[in-house]
Amino acid sequence: MAYDRDNIFAKILRGEIPCAKVFEDDHVLAFEDINPQAPHHVLVIPKGEYVSMDDFSAQASDAEIAAVIRALGHIARELGVAEPGYRILSNCGSDGHQEVPHLHFHLFAGRPLGRMIKPPEKA
Ligand code: AMP
Repeated sequence: MAYDRDNIFAKILRGEIPCAKVFEDDHVLAFEDINPQAPHHVLVIPKGEYVSMDDFSAQASDAEIAAVIRALGHIARELGVAEPGYRILSNCGSDGHQEVPHLHFHLFAGRPLGRMIKPPEKA
């Protein structure tokens, strides 16, 4: 999928739409999710134009990839949630239910988060 420069996170990166910024460096921006699913719900995005994890893992530089991973750990520590813990999730594509086509990692914390995915209903 080609990168859509009109996606909402591209607009946030250009400063056309505000965000509640949590962290920024040369390669990464992190901000609060507008519809939080946990007491802490931060979105961590690369500044580069990557649609998804598929795109990022194939095309991004080692520096960009390292920066995103470092930022995730740093933000969790800054939030004070390294203990008792947190969840990082990235939805990819339609089966992953990705809504915004700019790679983003959700960082959820602040309460017990339960099972990773709901098990399938028994017939
Ligand atoms: P996903 O389903 O993984 O693509 O998640 C997209 C996330 O972006 C959702 O959790 C939304 O609440 C969040 N979101 C959408 N628009 C904004 C915005 N303007 N600022 C912050 N978060 C947003």
